[in-house]
Amino acid sequence: MKCVTIKKGVDCAFMVSEGCSYKGGQCYPVVEKCEGCERTSEFDGKVYCNSYPEPEAKWDHGACNFATHIQAVVDKAGKVKVNPLKASKRAAKGRK
Ligand code: SF4
Repeated sequence: MKCVTIKKGVDCAFMVSEGCSYKGGQCYPVVEKCEGCERTSEFDGKVYCNSYPEPEAKWDHGACNFATHIQAVVDKAGKVKVNPLKASKRAAKGRK
């Protein structure tokens, strides 16, 4: 259903006939760790994630699995490490 609250006109799984069914009846702006991610859009001067209603929660347990600007790798000790993706690497992949 199309959002009628923050992302007006955007198709959203949380929008039901009674309104937004997500926590607090709304979605939440991106957090600092989202900076550089391509999955964002601006609505009324604030930036929101196109894929998830609460970006902060996507970073609670390591790295966001939808992020386009980082790559999460598991090291030998089993710890998740986050590496920034370089735009040039992404561009090169697109040329293959
Ligand atoms: S996909 Fe992840 S990193 Fe990108 S804006 Fe959404 S929550 Fe942030």
